[in-house]
Amino acid sequence: MNDTELLRATDRAYDMVFKGLVEFSCVKAGFELDLFNILADAGSMELEPLAEKVGGEARRLGQLLVAMEQIGLVEKDGSKWKLTEFSDTLFAKPENHPSHTMESAAHSMGFLAENYYMKLADAVRGKQKFISPVAYPPQTREENEYFETIHRRTAYFPIKILGEFAKLDGIKQMTDVGGGIGDISASLCQKFPELNVTLLNLPGAIELVNENAASKGVGDRLKGAAVDIYKEPFPEGDAVMFCRMLYPMSVQFSTMMIKKAYDAIRPGGRILILDMLICDPNKPNFDYLSHYLCGIGMDFSVLDFKKHAEYPGILEGIGFTDVTKEEKYDHVLYQAVKP
Ligand code: SAM
Repeated sequence: MNDTELLRATDRAYDMVFKGLVEFSCVKAGFELDLFNILADAGSMELEPLAEKVGGEARRLGQLLVAMEQIGLVEKDGSKWKLTEFSDTLFAKPENHPSHTMESAAHSMGFLAENYYMKLADAVRGKQKFISPVAYPPQTREENEYFETIHRRTAYFPIKILGEFAKLDGIKQMTDVGGGIGDISASLCQKFPELNVTLLNLPGAIELVNENAASKGVGDRLKGAAVDIYKEPFPEGDAVMFCRMLYPMSVQFSTMMIKKAYDAIRPGGRILILDMLICDPNKPNFDYLSHYLCGIGMDFSVLDFKKHAEYPGILEGIGFTDVTKEEKYDHVLYQAVKP
């Protein structure tokens, strides 16, 4: 390496060793001290009352705030501390932006950091099993709510790309396979007045889905159904949607799921596949990678990497036509028609 290359490589190595640790430690502490919500409510605060409010010592909190200032989480307003627009938008008050906030994911990652990720070498040696913050797969309403809250908190861009590009005019009955708590399908019901959705999920999630649909005014058109999407056929309808479901599945497994969709769709009906992008060589998807690493500690994991460019071949191989692709907001949406 020449010195320019060495400097760039050193930066990258420093990022790997220091950056993630410093940033996540500050974020985790911020959530555990309820610092983001307290500052969002107050607007700005002097150090002493802020320390009292978070149950901390002023000198120690002051040091945390200085570190947080360096990484863009807080800033000074005269002698007071306040949130930056960035942390106010993504870390404070989830109720203000429920489809676009990191609190739930940070809670889960904090648990996994302490109990799993820091022991990854032991997992590779077969001496550390994956441990989940709540039972996985979830059984009870509360366990399902834990995971569905994480999913719904990052639904903003999936909802946006579907709102812009989903071709659902004239579709009366759609199946949303593994549809989460229903925020995404509810947004489609609101956009397409003729649309009815059956949302397939685990038994413990169905009440949550139906209550959520009712609260959004689409309870008569969006209903949950306890169907094991891996073992049971999908109900018949005019469309099937896989939203953030197929991206971690191998070509073989995706093909099997898409074939089940084909069998359930009436002629003239449509399939929609919305995936996060996980294979950009210039932008690793750390959300997906964090889940992928969990598979190391499991006896069996279906998580995989496939290029989304495989979809047209899979879809056409099964018999779908008119394949279209939209790529936006770090997501990709494939749609096709069953002739
Ligand atoms: N589509 C939603 C979204 O984009 O936010 C949620 C995607 S989340 C990655 C996976 C979903 O599949 C969850 O709602 C989960 O409860 C559901 N799920 C997992 N295993 C399932 C199974 N065997 N049968 C039915 N649903 C399942």
